Amino acid sequence: MFAWLKDVFFYRIPAEHKVPFESEIFRTNILSAKITALVLLLSSLVLAIVYIIETDYGHILFELIFITFFILTSVYYLILDRLSKNVDKYLRTIKTISCIYVELVLSCAAAFSAYHQDNAFCGILYMALVFVFCYCFYCESVKLLIILGISQTFYLLVTFLKHGISGTLVSSAILTWMYLALSYILSRLSYRSKFYEYITKAIIQEKNEQLSRLNEELTETNLQLKKLSYTDSLTGLSNRRHMNEILQKEWERCRTEKRPLSLLMIDIDNFKALNDLFGHPVGDDCLQQIAALMKHILDDTGAVLARYGGEEFMVALPCTDESHAYNIAEQLRTGVEKHMFAWRGHGSEILITISIGVASIVPDDEYSIDDLILSSDKSMYVAKKSKNKTIVLPVQKVEKRQTLKLIAKP
Ligand code: GH3
Ligand code: MG
Ligand code: MG
Repeated sequence: MFAWLKDVFFYRIPAEHKVPFESEIFRTNILSAKITALVLLLSSLVLAIVYIIETDYGHILFELIFITFFILTSVYYLILDRLSKNVDKYLRTIKTISCIYVELVLSCAAAFSAYHQDNAFCGILYMALVFVFCYCFYCESVKLLIILGISQTFYLLVTFLKHGISGTLVSSAILTWMYLALSYILSRLSYRSKFYEYITKAIIQEKNEQLSRLNEELTETNLQLKKLSYTDSLTGLSNRRHMNEILQKEWERCRTEKRPLSLLMIDIDNFKALNDLFGHPVGDDCLQQIAALMKHILDDTGAVLARYGGEEFMVALPCTDESHAYNIAEQLRTGVEKHMFAWRGHGSEILITISIGVASIVPDDEYSIDDLILSSDKSMYVAKKSKNKTIVLPVQKVEKRQTLKLIAKP
């Protein structure tokens, strides 16, 4: 039933947030402490001078108090300034000396105000400082209670010593207690709202971090998916989809720069026989080995090698003219030939070779990528006639394709 009272009077920060929250409010507190110390420094100096000059007020004790106070505040300010450069390291030290300093200030102000209750300015000095410490500093409930309790004891003690048990003592006790209670409640409310502000910020930051982590994972997954969709799973080379995109890009580039684009269409000879004789796993092995060898030969040439389908490969050679493309094709063909890919068994042996068709063009508006691909395909079929050959044919325009119809059997 009185949970809200407990919540207001003794608001406690949940354990898991205590340290980061304290570090955060401490930075706010340091700024408040520096400003307050500077104001107090000036005030104590002015008051000390006034007390020294003005003999009416003359009281050696207060003159001494203000001078001591001035020195104390200067020392406190200097220490604070120095230690606050490394808050994390000196957190505890700063907290301890700050508490002692605040206690000293409040207790002295309490004694001074109690002594000079007849003077309106002096009377409210204590209250003004209570106000400053309650609202400008974020402090835990217990600490604040101890600080206010000690200074209030001084206030009542000095009032009692000066006025004895009298109406003045009772009325000032009631008034100051009420003021202190009000200040305390308001300070707790502000402390709690500061924590909610902190926790909201922390939650938003955590969610943002989670979101950016998820985004990074998503980008990474997308990259991998894209890579997978562009890769031939058996040989690890680019697949037909990737080759088509690359050709499109290189066609545009070479057209703009007016440079040649060459294409090699490669087909493994007698591959079906290899499959039929030794089985598909051997055929797969052959595809992988030929792919690896060609990749090795083409290294550093700027060529793009792809498995176009089945036992056919394609090489795009941007900025490469016909004779250079022929040379590269011959390097591939002789490379495979020299490597002597041979499978033996069941009383037979199959020696693997490749046939290559070459086509080259400086892209323009008259021809299309399809013309280049089909011309290299035609060259490859001419090479197939004798096998283990490289043939170059000029690029021709593709004739209009016939539309084929599927005839249903009766
Ligand atoms: P040619 O010398 O005229 O090129 O004849 P070929 O036997 O090489 O060509 P053909 O088109 O008659 O046969 C190609 C074979 O390649 C048929 C198909 O089963 C096989 N093939 C296609 N893809 C794969 C694959 O991924 N793995 C295996 N092992 N075989 C494949
Ligand atoms: Mg084929
Ligand atoms: Mg073949």
